Amino acid sequence: MKLSGRIKAIKPSITLALAAKTLELRAQGLDVINFTAGEPDFDTSDRIKEAAVEALKRGMTKYTDVRGIVSLREAIVEKYQRDYGLRYDRDEVLVSCGGKHALYNLFQAILDEGDEVIIPAPYWVSYPDMILLSGGLPRIVQTKRENGYRITPEELRAALNPRTRAFVLNSPNNPTGAAYDRDDLSALSRVLERHECLIISDDVYEKIIYDDFRFHSIVALNPRLRERTIIINSLSKTYAMTGWRIGFATGPAPVIAAAAKIQSQSTSNPNSIAQVAAVEALLGNQDEVGVMVREFQRRRNTIVKRLNAMEGVQCTMPEGAFYAFPSVRSLLGKKGRGKRLGSACDLAEFFLEEAQVVVVPGEDFGAAENIRLTYATSLEEIEKGCDRIEAAIRKLV
Ligand code: GLU
Repeated sequence: MKLSGRIKAIKPSITLALAAKTLELRAQGLDVINFTAGEPDFDTSDRIKEAAVEALKRGMTKYTDVRGIVSLREAIVEKYQRDYGLRYDRDEVLVSCGGKHALYNLFQAILDEGDEVIIPAPYWVSYPDMILLSGGLPRIVQTKRENGYRITPEELRAALNPRTRAFVLNSPNNPTGAAYDRDDLSALSRVLERHECLIISDDVYEKIIYDDFRFHSIVALNPRLRERTIIINSLSKTYAMTGWRIGFATGPAPVIAAAAKIQSQSTSNPNSIAQVAAVEALLGNQDEVGVMVREFQRRRNTIVKRLNAMEGVQCTMPEGAFYAFPSVRSLLGKKGRGKRLGSACDLAEFFLEEAQVVVVPGEDFGAAENIRLTYATSLEEIEKGCDRIEAAIRKLV
């Protein structure tokens, strides 16, 4: 079968592929521990579900404005005003089918063949492939563990060039959990001020932050960047609403209108009922977010401690999101179940076969010596999974 050249240049999402594989193994009756796709194990709260039921009863079952219903775009405007004092107009907001879709539309709208997008590595698996699908070129900048996996102003400056169309900032980061504080962001923004590129601020983990870390919006810190920054956000993580598929992009009206044009020719509006539920999520009582985050923090503390106690595993403490991303460099090259484990992929396969634990190997995150484990799963599963991984590591020779 002849397929397009574009499709040959990309791979399927590893996070989703492994999550599906885990479900398949469980369906076969295997007792598998799932550290794969990052999604809160909490249920969507009742107030949000009730809003959806009401919407359904009221007959919110038709097409909506492609960009999202007015009340939702206004709720998003209110959220940014409330959280960061940012002023947006509803024409500067586009609601899409999840943060992923918001990003996809955006890359399609802004990239021409050969345009470069700077992505600090480790990065979320889907950025490079979405950029390739748009004809753009991912320009990966390797961050260092000793810098907490944060791109430095010097590294950013060295990567910017006349072909740079955009820079992707993802704080807190998937997969490392690294987050940029006020000073970090101010320093990056001073570099970006001097270069005419777009800034894509993927803030989907803005509320999943720990200890006394404070999230800052780069636009609020440096309003001069407002006219070329697009903020990506989602309800999936903050409100445990992954399956509802509501995400949004906020930024300059011409870019938003261009992304909306793509949406109008592809998916049309996001689900009408989920949009009404999203208004409730954003404007209703926010207490449950704090409850969930406190629980994630307990789990983070446990998993990082357990991982660091394992032979050959080193894990930095994440400031946000819900992933541990340990280096397993010292384990690579060892032998397990008679095979040489030369890569993170080999090691992940070994953990699955030997311990029935599914982790995501680091290669597709641009980090060949790491593995990712989500701690958006119960403490009991975390302890059990760590026991098994620890026992498996002891068997390596
Ligand atoms: N963002 C989540 C993850 O990294 C969901 C899966 C995906 O879309 O990649 O696991």
